[in-house]
Amino acid sequence: MSVAAAPKRSAITETVARFTADRILPRGSELDSHPQDLPLIRELLLEAGRLGLYGAVVPQEFGGTGPDSLALHEGIEALAYGNAGLAMSTMPTYLLARAVVLHGSAEQQERWLPAVAEGRLLGAWAVTEPHTGSDVAAITTRAVRDGDGWRLDGRKMFITNAAIADALLVLCRTGGGGTRGAMTTFVVPMDTPGIAVARTLEKMGLRSSPTCELLLDDVRVPDTDRLGAEGAGWQVGMDVLDYERLAVPAIGAGMCARALDLATAYAADRTAFGAPLHEIGAVQAMLADIAAALLECRLLYRHVAGLVDRERPAILDASIGKLVGGRLANSAVNLALQVHGGYGYIREYEIERLYRDARLFTIGGGTSEIQQRIVAGQLRREPGWSRTAALT
Ligand SMILES: Cc1cc2nc3c(=O)[nH]c(=O)nc-3n(C[C@H](O)[C@H](O)[C@H](O)COP(=O)(O)OP(=O)(O)OC[C@H]3O[C@@H](n4cnc5c(N)ncnc54)[C@H](O)[C@@H]3O)c2cc1C
Repeated sequence: MSVAAAPKRSAITETVARFTADRILPRGSELDSHPQDLPLIRELLLEAGRLGLYGAVVPQEFGGTGPDSLALHEGIEALAYGNAGLAMSTMPTYLLARAVVLHGSAEQQERWLPAVAEGRLLGAWAVTEPHTGSDVAAITTRAVRDGDGWRLDGRKMFITNAAIADALLVLCRTGGGGTRGAMTTFVVPMDTPGIAVARTLEKMGLRSSPTCELLLDDVRVPDTDRLGAEGAGWQVGMDVLDYERLAVPAIGAGMCARALDLATAYAADRTAFGAPLHEIGAVQAMLADIAAALLECRLLYRHVAGLVDRERPAILDASIGKLVGGRLANSAVNLALQVHGGYGYIREYEIERLYRDARLFTIGGGTSEIQQRIVAGQLRREPGWSRTAALT
């Protein structure tokens, strides 16, 4: 019986996997340090752009290859195999591009999209504020009409990339309370006077992803920096959320794959009771569970990316993807650390970093509890979902 040829990986996976092997994996501890080497992080993220990663979000007429959500997330998985923080830091750039693709004026699309596609620009996306994260309706950063333009004032918290970004997508209150009709999104150059990084936060993990507190103090912007209609800010956010949630199972797949490779190698090398660890049933069970987590994450993001690429409703599936992907990434790295025994707890072993990195993925971009809330709410709106879920 002949053995079938192994399936080929996609072009983007191959390209990013080579970049990860050559440029990222050798810098594991350098990228895990505080204070962060911001110029290095910026350069690596732009390099990923020049390889075409962000271009997967950008239509061909603006120099991209997209929109191709599957290609984008295959690339993110390949990057996350080497470093989950960098993989996470790609997100604000392509979310900004996605928002501009969907809601930008012709001038905004010409201004921002080619630069994203060519790896010349990094973005940041600012929604969260010091006093409110899950409850987006409670944001207080205000934009008020000021002559022909707008004046922005407020404070944003936990903003990925703010210290290294060129452009900022920012959600502001322009009306009364609530969400719909009361918020507006702006896309502004990061060097606009009045925008300042108050501090870059020290984090438990994902240290290659700068997370910042941002001040907006009397920031004057022209009306041409408004993205979409006045009052459409909530909708702009909703329209890019599928991409944000999809990143978690994609990053989770990369992390599970790395955890599996690390644990497998360790279990082959280390002996206990006169044999390699991988001959012990309990260790085999852990390796099998890590492999299962990898497969689940990969299938999840590929399924949701397929919905997005076919322009099918994906709110429910994307939220499940984030919920489950975050859990699986955490459980897989936890098991892989356990396979390493005491060495897993020691900084010089890479699995220790993966354990710290994974923790964010049940929190950032909408906590697991918020995803559960969305899923439960959406199930009431889509009572037939149980019969058609995941059917193409
Ligand atoms: C490393 C990092 C990077 C980030 N990057 C960005 C970024 O680039 N841009 C950005 O805008 N934000 C960013 N965030 C913010 C992130 O999205 C928020 O931290 C997250 O949405 C949770 O908000 P919170 O921290 O205010 O928690 P809270 O909303 O205060 O929640 C605290 C706890 O209460 C629970 N909870 C709250 N409300 C409910 C509810 N109704 N039902 C059930 N449980 C509930 C939550 O699940 C959580 O367990 C980042 C955060 C981190 C840590």
